[in-house]
Amino acid sequence: MDQKRNTRMGNRYVIVLAAAMFFVACKEKPQFVKEEDLAIIEPAPEPDVYEFGFNLNDYVVKRDTIKRGDSFGSILERNSIGYPKIYNIVQTAKDTFDIRKLQIGKPYTLLCSKDSLETPKCFIYQPNIEEYVVINLQDSIHAYTSRKPIKYVEKTATGVVTTNISDAFSDQGLSVLLAYKMADEIYAWTIDFRRLQKGDRFKVIYTDKYIDDTIYAGIQNVKAAYMEYNKEPFYAFKFETDTVRKFSDYFDGEAKNLRRAFLKMPVQFSRISSRYNLKRRIAFYGNRIKPHKGTDFAAPIGTPIMATANGTVIKSAYNRGNGNYVKIRHNSTYETQYLHMKKQNVKVGQFVKQGSVIGWVGMTGNTGGPHVCYRFWKNGKQVDPLREKLPEAEPISEKLKAKYFDFIKPVKAQLDNISFKKEKTKKPLSNNLISRIK
Ligand SMILES: [Zn+2]
Repeated sequence: MDQKRNTRMGNRYVIVLAAAMFFVACKEKPQFVKEEDLAIIEPAPEPDVYEFGFNLNDYVVKRDTIKRGDSFGSILERNSIGYPKIYNIVQTAKDTFDIRKLQIGKPYTLLCSKDSLETPKCFIYQPNIEEYVVINLQDSIHAYTSRKPIKYVEKTATGVVTTNISDAFSDQGLSVLLAYKMADEIYAWTIDFRRLQKGDRFKVIYTDKYIDDTIYAGIQNVKAAYMEYNKEPFYAFKFETDTVRKFSDYFDGEAKNLRRAFLKMPVQFSRISSRYNLKRRIAFYGNRIKPHKGTDFAAPIGTPIMATANGTVIKSAYNRGNGNYVKIRHNSTYETQYLHMKKQNVKVGQFVKQGSVIGWVGMTGNTGGPHVCYRFWKNGKQVDPLREKLPEAEPISEKLKAKYFDFIKPVKAQLDNISFKKEKTKKPLSNNLISRIK
C-alpha cells in the first residue's frame, strides 16, 4: 500500500520536476561562468548522426551557451578566426541574422574541421527550441534560418474530481497547464473551477507538440472538451470564425459562445468584500441607508486591474471620493468604472482590450483598505454585474452556423465515445501518462 503510494507520489514528483526544468530551460538566466570555462568538446559519434542538416561525424562538434560578455566576434576569435574574416562574415550574414541579437544562455554549436587546427566551419545558434540559425563560415560564406521538425500528436484524456481540479489532472499524469487552459481559457465564463465538487468530471481532446520527435514543447491546442459540472453537461468546441485572421473561439453544442463579453471580475485571485447593495446601512453614517452601487474586490496593493471588456477609456482621473479611477465605454449600452487605484495605466481616448491592465489596486480616495470598487452601467443606470445576464462575446454568424454544426458532429461523437476511466485506478502512472494516442 505504502509502496504504491510512494511510487505514485514519486512519479508525480518527476512530472512536476520535468515541467519545472522545462520552464527553467526557457528562462534566460544570466550564467556566471569563469573565464577558463571553455566550450565542451564532444568526441564525434560513430554512426551517421544528423543534426541541423549536417552529418556530425564529419566535424569536431563544440557546444556551448552564450555567456555574459560573449559576442559573435569573441567566440570566433577564441576559435582562431581572425578579425578581417569575422568582419566579412558579419557583413554577409547580416540580412539573415543580426549577430548583436545573441542572448545570454542560448545554446550554440560550432562544427569544426577534424584536423589538428579544428577550424570552425559552421556556427549554429538556437534562439529558441524550434529555430536555429546557420552561419556557414566556409569559402562561400552564407547564412540561413531553419526549423527543427515539429510533430503534433492528438490525445484524449479524462478525469474525475476527488479533491480539486489540479489533483484530478495530475492523478492522470496530465499537465497542470491543461487544467489551466480548461479553467482560464475555455470554461472561465461558464464554470467556477474553484467550486468543483467531488464527482465532477471531464473529457478533453487536445494536441501535444514535439520538436525533433522527442522534445516535449507543451500543449498546442485543445480541440474540444466536455465537463460534467453538478451533473450538467458542458460541451466546448473550438471553431475558427474568421479564416482570414485565423480567429477562433469555443462554442457549446448550440453554437453559443462560451466567452462572455465581460470578465466576471476585474482582478484575479481576489475576494468580493462588498456587493452591490441598494439598502446598505453603514454604522459610520449613523446607520443610515447608503447604497453601494459597486462591487468591491479586495486584493493586495499593486494587483493588476483588468478591463473587463474591450472599450475606449473615457476617464482617467482623480477625485476625493474615487481616488485614482478609470472609466471605460464598451458600446452604446455598457460602461464600467474602476476606483481607488494606486495608479492608472491608460489615457483618455485609448482603446483597451478585454483583460488588458488599466491600473493597479491601491487605496486612494475614500476607502478603508486596498480594493477595487467596480461599477457597471447599463443604459446609463448602475446595475449589479453579478446579477446581469451578460451578453455572449461575438456570437457565431447565422451563415456560419450550418458549417459549425457539420464541423462539431464528428468531434462530438469522438468526445462521447471516450469512456471515463475507473476512479483512482491502481495502474502504474506510466500507462496513463500517454493517454490513448490516436
Ligand atoms: Zn465600492
